[in-house]
Amino acid sequence: MKRILVTGGAGFLGSHLCDVLVEQGHDVICLDNYFTGAKSNVTHLMDHDNFELMRWDVIDPMKVEVDEIYNLACPASPVHYQHNPIKTIKTSVMGAINVLGLAKRINARVFQASTSEVYGDPAVHPQSEDYWGNVNPVGIRSCYDEGKRCAETLFFDYHRQNGVDIRVVRIFNTYGPRMNPDDGRVVSNFIVQALRGEPITIYGDGTQTRSFCYADDLVRGFVKFMEQEEIIGPMNLGNPGEFTMLELAEHVLDLVGVKTEIAFKPLPSDDPKQRRPDITLAQKHLGWKPTVPLREGLERTIRYFEKHIKELNPAF
Ligand code: NAD
Ligand code: UDP
Repeated sequence: MKRILVTGGAGFLGSHLCDVLVEQGHDVICLDNYFTGAKSNVTHLMDHDNFELMRWDVIDPMKVEVDEIYNLACPASPVHYQHNPIKTIKTSVMGAINVLGLAKRINARVFQASTSEVYGDPAVHPQSEDYWGNVNPVGIRSCYDEGKRCAETLFFDYHRQNGVDIRVVRIFNTYGPRMNPDDGRVVSNFIVQALRGEPITIYGDGTQTRSFCYADDLVRGFVKFMEQEEIIGPMNLGNPGEFTMLELAEHVLDLVGVKTEIAFKPLPSDDPKQRRPDITLAQKHLGWKPTVPLREGLERTIRYFEKHIKELNPAF
């Protein structure tokens, strides 16, 4: 069994990853500054002897002795990463330098949660790993996109220059239970709005597309990728099913069983028009593909939010 550090472990994806690693019997240290994550995402793990929590900010160097590091610390929702863009880019870049420095010193394998945002507003569709992207370096999304691109560069330079054992995945839009109701990303917004009977907010005309992966599928891919020796990435992980935001809204309204208005809002600048992963590499090297179709994943997420919103708001 390994000792494993998960940065951003109290966040949406990090907490699901901690679940899997603790379940496998590993000794897991969950590091988080709770900017967008919450202790409540991992309180159910606190009784396990092989789990511990560490309040820390990845922009400061950390000292732990582990065999593996998963680096997930970074706000992922545009609303949150644009709240303090300088902090966001520091988190990506200094966080990468700190986990890579640690991995180099203690000879640990280190995983980077990169993103489909490295492809920007893509001119190639679907996106495969050899596409270099179309990213605005000075826009409102740049703190996240360029921070993650720079982190990838650091990972590959630490690998080439210092032989650090890296794994880099590019995650496409992923959703599921434990997303923060105030997260601001589209799936949680639509579900919370539908459950509250509020208008569904569509930015732009709703014809932009995204491909949505269910969290359990993604995390299974993380662990498979980390466990194999063949390939270091970058590797796309995501669900190739592609939907417009209008289609997503229809599915959510249908599954929640309500008819609310649609409120069209301005499209934020640099919002990518289309996005779909080419997952050939993951299929070939990991034998991985997503198994949870959109409607099933939405149903499970809706059930979680129903419970969560009632807990947060007894009048609901
Ligand atoms: P999230 O916001 O729920 O999780 C991020 C976690 O990192 C939170 O717990 C937050 O408190 C923590 N964090 C933020 N800044 C930190 C800092 N400076 N020091 C320590 N902890 C810090 O988001 P998520 O969806 O779980 O995303 C996890 C990772 O996956 C992120 O790196 C994100 O960029 C990446 N990713 C996610 C998606 C997705 O669709 N969910 C897509 C692409 C990439
Ligand atoms: N979006 C929307 N309504 C919302 C939130 C988001 O129409 O309430 C749109 C957003 O403009 C984008 C897509 O949904 O085109 C996905 O947005 P999200 O913030 O989830 O992720 P990202 O843009 O980073 O892929």
